[in-house]
Amino acid sequence: MSATTPGLVCGHHHLYSALARGMPPPPRTPQDFGEILELIWWRLDAALDLEMIRWSALLGALEALEQGTTAIVDHHESPNAIEGSLSVIADACAEVGVRVVCAYGVTDRHGSAGARQGLEENRRFLSEGGRGLVGIHAAFTCEDATLEAAAGLAADLGVGVHVHVCEGTQDREAPSRLRPLAREDWLLAHCVHLPEDPGLPGTIAHNPRSNLNNSVGYARPVRFANPVVLGSDGIGAAMLDEFRMAYVCQRADDVTASPETAWAWLEGGRALVPETERDEVTWTYDPMDPWHLAFTPGVRPRRVVVDGETVLEDGRPTRVDADEVRAKAAEQARRLHARL
Ligand SMILES: [Zn+2]
Repeated sequence: MSATTPGLVCGHHHLYSALARGMPPPPRTPQDFGEILELIWWRLDAALDLEMIRWSALLGALEALEQGTTAIVDHHESPNAIEGSLSVIADACAEVGVRVVCAYGVTDRHGSAGARQGLEENRRFLSEGGRGLVGIHAAFTCEDATLEAAAGLAADLGVGVHVHVCEGTQDREAPSRLRPLAREDWLLAHCVHLPEDPGLPGTIAHNPRSNLNNSVGYARPVRFANPVVLGSDGIGAAMLDEFRMAYVCQRADDVTASPETAWAWLEGGRALVPETERDEVTWTYDPMDPWHLAFTPGVRPRRVVVDGETVLEDGRPTRVDADEVRAKAAEQARRLHARL
C-alpha cells in the first residue's frame, strides 16, 4: 500500500545543529532556556567554520529528504564564519535536491560589527539571487537600530524577515519592539509567550518538540489569527513526527482537539515554498490522512520527486551517497566537538 502527497515543508530549521548531536556536555547543567542558549547553542555556533556548515547542511538536507521534506526554511548563525555561509548552505541543499530558504540571524550579542556583518551576509546572498528571508536572531539580542536595519533591508529586497519571537520569557518585549516593523511576509518562530492578540502580522512557526525540550511552555497556536506552520527548530526535519507532536501537545491542552488542526499547520507550510505543491512523495502507508497518521509512527517515503527529478528512490538518495555524507559529517562533528 502506498499513497502520494506533495512535499512537506519544515517551516523553521537550524541546519547547523545537525552536528551538535553527541557534543560534549556544557560546563554546567543549564537551569533555564537562557542558560541553554548561553551554555550550548551560543558556544556551538561560535565554533562553526564553513566546512562544518557545509557538512551539517548536507546531512540535514539528506535527513529531510529521507522524511519526505522537500523544503527547509533555515535560520543560520555562525558568528566566526559569517561571510559566504548562506551560499554554502544553499549549495549543500541543492546538491542533495532539497529546496531551502536561507536567512542569517542578525544579532548584537557579538557587538555592532557582528550585526553589520550579519546584515551584509543577508544582503549579499539575496542580492546575488539567493532564495531567502532576512534573518534576525531575536529582538532581545538586538538594538533597535539593528531591528530597523534588518526590516528595512528586507523591505528593500522584497522579502520577509525570519525571527525568533517570544520563545522564552526574556523576549517579552519583542511584540512592542517589532510591531512598528513587522509585515505579512515575516516568519515568527515560536511565539510561546506572545500575547493572544499581538498585533504582529506574519506567519507563526510552531516548534512543539523543541519547545518541550527547552521547557519554555506551550505556544497554544489556536489562539492566534495568524497563519501557523510547523518547524523542527533544528531537531531534524521529520515533519510527520512534528505533526504528531503538535497534535499530542494540543491534545494535552484540550482533549477535544482533532488532529486535523495540526495537519492544517503542516500543510500550511507549503505557502512558504509553493513549488512543493508539485513535488511528489510516495509513502509506505495509505491513506495519508491526519486521523491515521496521528496514531501511525514510522511512516516513511519510498520515492521523492522534486521539480520533476527523482531525488529519492527505494528510500535512498539518488544525487548523493548517503553513507559518505554521514561519514564526512561525523568527521566534521568530531572537529566541532574538539573545539568545544
Ligand atoms: Zn529556532
